[in-house]
Amino acid sequence: MGGYISRDREPDLAASFGALEEKQLSVSQPLARNGVLQPGKVYFIPARCGAAVVLEKGKMLTLINVSGLQVCDMWAFNTSDPDEFLSMEHTRTHLGRLVPVVGDSMVSNRRNEMLELVEDTSPGVHDTLIAACDINRYRQLGVSEYHDNCVDNLRMALLAIGKEVSHVPSPFNVWMNVPLDGDGSLTFVPPVAKRDDRIVFKAMMTCYVVMSCCPQDITAVNGVGSQTESIGVMLGD
Ligand SMILES: [Zn+2]
Repeated sequence: MGGYISRDREPDLAASFGALEEKQLSVSQPLARNGVLQPGKVYFIPARCGAAVVLEKGKMLTLINVSGLQVCDMWAFNTSDPDEFLSMEHTRTHLGRLVPVVGDSMVSNRRNEMLELVEDTSPGVHDTLIAACDINRYRQLGVSEYHDNCVDNLRMALLAIGKEVSHVPSPFNVWMNVPLDGDGSLTFVPPVAKRDDRIVFKAMMTCYVVMSCCPQDITAVNGVGSQTESIGVMLGD
């Protein structure tokens, strides 16, 4: 099996990926070595990086949009069987809507409740439609060198706590603003969140939660011409 970065699909970039794996903070500096955070402490995922944490059933996880303009791709996997994961398509069916609101539970690919959205200080604009950015997305956007991306961040963040998953599901794109127009078209525009907006999830099953500070700096999803930023994370009771 290849490395956790997508070198198997990009063999010509394998050499530079090897160097990257050693310095990328997603894999070298987990928020906690075993993924278990200290309750009440605010951790920061560095800009352009990912992090994986263990969220026990009944516990809360808060994400903080430090800049107000940073999108956070988020995934969850059942710790007992990571082939069960948070599924956007199953969640849309379960809720009968595109985006969850406070009080909604998001479900797995086996239609079990995984995460409840318990608080959201932002206007509630998030995305469940768009795949995580990956090296091929940046290639198609004209980037010839390696570009940090959410798919690699997911793999590296899990590896940093000693885990692997068999594939990359569609993420819950927290604060990502991709409005669906009446004619069916989608546009990629900046978040409408504000500085220090918080969103809080409660685990309905014990899961690994993986987050990536989306390094997308070609489209406007992290703000026009703005820097990509860090995201705050806090475990609560
Ligand atoms: Zn991304």
